[in-house]
Amino acid sequence: MATRRLNDPDKVIVTAALTGSEPSKKDNPMLPTQPREVAAAAVECYEAGAAVVHIHTRDDDDNPNMDFNKFKETVDLIREADCPVILNLTTSGTQGVTYENRVKPFVELKPELASFDAGSMNWRHRFVAMNEPGFLEFLGEKLIETGVKPEVEVFDTGMLYTALHYIGKGLIEEPAHFQICLGAPGGMPATPENLIYMVNHLPENCTWGAFGVGRANVDIMMTTLALGGNIRVGFEDNVYYHYRQPAQSNAVFVGRVKRLAAEQNKKLATPDEARQILGLKKSR
Ligand code: ZN
Repeated sequence: MATRRLNDPDKVIVTAALTGSEPSKKDNPMLPTQPREVAAAAVECYEAGAAVVHIHTRDDDDNPNMDFNKFKETVDLIREADCPVILNLTTSGTQGVTYENRVKPFVELKPELASFDAGSMNWRHRFVAMNEPGFLEFLGEKLIETGVKPEVEVFDTGMLYTALHYIGKGLIEEPAHFQICLGAPGGMPATPENLIYMVNHLPENCTWGAFGVGRANVDIMMTTLALGGNIRVGFEDNVYYHYRQPAQSNAVFVGRVKRLAAEQNKKLATPDEARQILGLKKSR
């Protein structure tokens, strides 16, 4: 199927986005926030079938931050547990975080993936998530320099075309890996039609995954599976398993993808299979 691009037709790469910057323990007390909790969730998701974990950090009071020491502690704990899961560190920044501090976690800790949000956005109608051209150029150069592969997050069509611009300029190397993020207020709504539109406008030479934030999570998951895409799940995007029923862990979402994929006669990709599909150079 043309819409599959370079994804494996028989394997689904599951990324578990464990924490994010948005949810709190008030939304779901099982949300992992401190390094020990995040590392334990990463191992649990790997054991449930996730190939990739996407990591954000919080300060001691659980507020979102970009503190290098928290990233280091988390990554060290996952590596000390001998967990082979692929690490994907966020580069998102709230106002006032310097360019250097946004890239320091992947520059120093050498994960295999780091996020590249391809544009600024009026995040949930509250503030501007800043990814201005100067930052994207700086980020693209640092990723190439360190050999860390960008996971190109696109929240709407404009961001998709911004990514194509940077692919054309050589700041994002091909084949690129896209994450289509739908349903975050300020971005494109999470509907099957929007997902299909986005997938149809991806370049041929790429791999891709998708997710829907909040209530549309399962609809987007099912549509993505039908289109041959990879899947992101986790508390960053959705704290409920069913409507108004808080999920018991990040790993239960991974289990749901495993069951749905099995019904399609597909298996979840192991981290090593995902490395092959995504063309990762092990940079650690
Ligand atoms: Zn994130």
